[in-house]
Amino acid sequence: MLRAARWPWPVPVLGASVLLALLAAVPASRADSLPARAAHVADYDIRVRLDPEAKTLEGDERIVWRNPSPEPVGELWFHLYLNAFKSSKSSFFTESGGQLRGDRMAEDGWGWVDVRSIRRADGVDLAPGATFEHPDDDNADDRTVWRVPLPEPVPAGGEIALDVAFRAKLPRIFARTGYFRDYFLVGQWFPKLGVYEPAGMRGRTAGGWNCHQFHANSEFYADFGRYQVEITLPKRFVVGATGKRTDRRENADGTSTHVFEQADVIDFAWTASPRFLEVKSTFSAEKEVTPQEYAETAKLLGRSLDEVRLSDVEVTVLLQPEHAIQAERHVKAAKAAIKWFGLWYGRYPYPTITVVDPAFGGGGSGGMEYPTFITAGTSSLFNRWPLDRVLAPEGVTVHEFGHQYWQSMVASNEFEESWLDEGFNTHSTAKVMARTYGPWVVQVLGLRIGGDDTSRSMNSVDRMFDAIRTPAWGYSPGNYGFNSYQRTDLTLQTLEALVGPETMARVLRTYHERWRFRHPTSEDFYAVVAEVAGKDQGSFFEQVVERPGILDDEVASVRSERVREPRGVFGEGEGKTTVTTKDARKKEREADAAGGGRPWRSTILVRRRGEVRLPTSLELEFEGGKAQAMSLQEVDFMGGKTEAMPLLDSRKDGRPWLGRWKRIELTGERRLVSATVDPENRLAIDVNRLNNSRRVEPDGRAAAHWGVRWIFWLQQMLAMVGL
Ligand SMILES: [Zn+2]
Repeated sequence: MLRAARWPWPVPVLGASVLLALLAAVPASRADSLPARAAHVADYDIRVRLDPEAKTLEGDERIVWRNPSPEPVGELWFHLYLNAFKSSKSSFFTESGGQLRGDRMAEDGWGWVDVRSIRRADGVDLAPGATFEHPDDDNADDRTVWRVPLPEPVPAGGEIALDVAFRAKLPRIFARTGYFRDYFLVGQWFPKLGVYEPAGMRGRTAGGWNCHQFHANSEFYADFGRYQVEITLPKRFVVGATGKRTDRRENADGTSTHVFEQADVIDFAWTASPRFLEVKSTFSAEKEVTPQEYAETAKLLGRSLDEVRLSDVEVTVLLQPEHAIQAERHVKAAKAAIKWFGLWYGRYPYPTITVVDPAFGGGGSGGMEYPTFITAGTSSLFNRWPLDRVLAPEGVTVHEFGHQYWQSMVASNEFEESWLDEGFNTHSTAKVMARTYGPWVVQVLGLRIGGDDTSRSMNSVDRMFDAIRTPAWGYSPGNYGFNSYQRTDLTLQTLEALVGPETMARVLRTYHERWRFRHPTSEDFYAVVAEVAGKDQGSFFEQVVERPGILDDEVASVRSERVREPRGVFGEGEGKTTVTTKDARKKEREADAAGGGRPWRSTILVRRRGEVRLPTSLELEFEGGKAQAMSLQEVDFMGGKTEAMPLLDSRKDGRPWLGRWKRIELTGERRLVSATVDPENRLAIDVNRLNNSRRVEPDGRAAAHWGVRWIFWLQQMLAMVGL
């Protein structure tokens, strides 16, 4: 999902470093290739009928579940997500207050789902003994998780077929799913199994169901399977859905039945509206990707040309007529996403992608992702001056497409580790946007905002810092988005600076390849980083992801003064002589007048205000000389005196600087002008760049160079518009 679905969104700029990496000579190394298929754990055959007047669904489903564990399983756990909208007593409602992403629930826009019957395929009734569970909180009124005990367990590796009949009332749209007039976006709509995690999977010590309640801030987690869904509704509706349309039948009662199928996916969503314009286009791998782009990608990633080759995809955009003018923008963004996500992480394996432009009043369903089916966020304002160069529609389409990679194929648990999907996707989206559209995501009346600015401008010490890895409903109020999206993006930018852009590109590629169609956890990502970077980054992740620490290095003070002549009493016993202050000053004046001058003593006090300690460097600028960047360790070798606390250089042994502060004293022929810690902005997670630099003269305040001023100004602006 996109948090700020309207504007702006987090998009960092592709660093020049990535381009340099493309040009660097790289020895090719063979790594894991892309898995072709998912293991099908849960298959769904669903028939559903929509009553567009009553806003109800009548459905039945045949579910086949295969026990993936080496032990018998005696119960099944289901999500009944639509019950999140049932009353003000649901956990979702309690947490959200009936409001999400700025959209408020309409009066009486309730929704619910009832299981009318559940039987084993041989007819045995499973409903007796079924109970509602609330594993995440003590809310006995929550009806979103349902446990069904089985008369006989499903043996290890065995399977069970179930027939489930259900009836649902859709909520009026404000949070992802429901209706607005005759526009329907139907997500989280059918009784759906949780994920059975055997011992050893995602760090579990004992096997069990992972089936969380529906929360305000969490999204989803499901197993892979094949879906075949038959949707029946009045003929006048245009329908789009997950997967490929395999049939459309006209019925005698004035309805049509649309059949969609897709294998290797974790979910199924659909949309219907009589007003949709359907725009189709084909992503042709041959036309969209040049031989040079294939060659550069293969070289960057150390993969063969065959491994990075893409395949064709049918792109369908379902648009509101008033947004028709934007069709091309959506198509271009979708194709750019298919191309760059495909090149960098692995080819898009499905034959279709459908982009839905929500109807007026249905904006709450925008900016959302389902397998092969995404919802956009747009407004016709974005086609008119002065907002026509705000790339909001593009940003949303690219972001939601990106979830095909981070969440849908690499199917991490969004309830427990939202950074693995939202944060990774924020990071990837930014790179695709920059690659496709250049550095500016907003250009309005001379104002330009780069993608990088948004994540950085939100990173303020005034925010609540949670551990990035926190269950989605456990973040401090209002900070799920900051921690899961922008802070993770900055974390990945920082990691990229530490390991290098080429290694980072290979880390993400390898992680995607290895975990495509599977369920990784944070440790699985850490392991890939250690393997590909050739060095364990455990300390980095421990500090930045697993704990709520902030990074804020500053130059606390700088001084540079002429070395003074000694004064006082010298010598012993009868041989004592006294140098008065007056004498010393006279000597100093004489030395200066003779042109020899006196050396300068410069003192720099560097302070670490936050808990996070990463290797960094210090740039000192001396009068008449060019700025010179050096690691803090190198400062020690310049002949200056330093305190005993070590300031270690990442390029030597990668160990972080251990103290909270350090004084650096240097004596030399030139006067110090300014000192800057992390001059290249490598540590993107630094919460305050204003204090990174300080000048000796005239007033000792931060050297307000362009970048720093700009970020500060942007922070103020975003704070004003309420982000
Ligand atoms: Zn998202």
